Amino acid sequence: MKLVFERIKLFKGVFCYSYAMPYKFTFDLSKLPRFFFNEIAIISYQKGMHKAVLNTLKEIILKFRIQEATGLNLSDAVVLLQDLIDLHGINVMQRKKFLKTKKRALFLPHCTRKFMDSRCQAIFDPSIPSYNCKHCSKDCLVSKANRLAENKGYDVYVVPGGSCVPKIVKNARYEGAIGIACGEEMKMSGNVLGSMNVAGQAIPLIKNGCANTAFSLETLQKTL
Ligand code: SF4
Ligand code: SF4
Repeated sequence: MKLVFERIKLFKGVFCYSYAMPYKFTFDLSKLPRFFFNEIAIISYQKGMHKAVLNTLKEIILKFRIQEATGLNLSDAVVLLQDLIDLHGINVMQRKKFLKTKKRALFLPHCTRKFMDSRCQAIFDPSIPSYNCKHCSKDCLVSKANRLAENKGYDVYVVPGGSCVPKIVKNARYEGAIGIACGEEMKMSGNVLGSMNVAGQAIPLIKNGCANTAFSLETLQKTL
């Protein structure tokens, strides 16, 4: 690429030199308000633009070597990325409404427990239905998330599947809910909660597989 020096006037008598890149201008986006990016996410979601950027998604996947890092094939990686964008769009759209809610619950998937066998001391109550974590392992994600959320006034449920969520929300009359699960599972329960007028925030798993799965505690902390 041919680089050309350009003389740019900054203010009275002060000049700087810049490379003339494909853009004919320089910019700094750091001072833009955060809502600008959120608006883009909302509009692109509403207009279904994310579906139309398939080629761009493929480029991003190749650029960041997502396939090598995850072991996914290209089409699976595209589906995963599309779901993550979908969920982010929904989160942004629901955020204001969610923040106004007073009674909230956190739903954790049972697959994020440290143990999936009898070593897990949680007691399952089928009448709710939810596991009640006994905090047997300090490094268990469920235990950590449980403490974080309870300290912020949330009721916490550890559920064996997304289909349990609407029943719990309806019985306890929650206004807001945070759900952690894999993308597909999340979209299904999200649709049902939407129809119940419950403001939802979704946190997708960063590792799935129905056992020894994981989510970001940092993301949860921000979402709470
Ligand atoms: S900390 Fe809780 S969820 Fe994790 S293994 Fe122990 S009882 Fe089960
Ligand atoms: S990985 Fe997904 S489908 Fe499997 S148990 Fe966890 S949330 Fe449910």
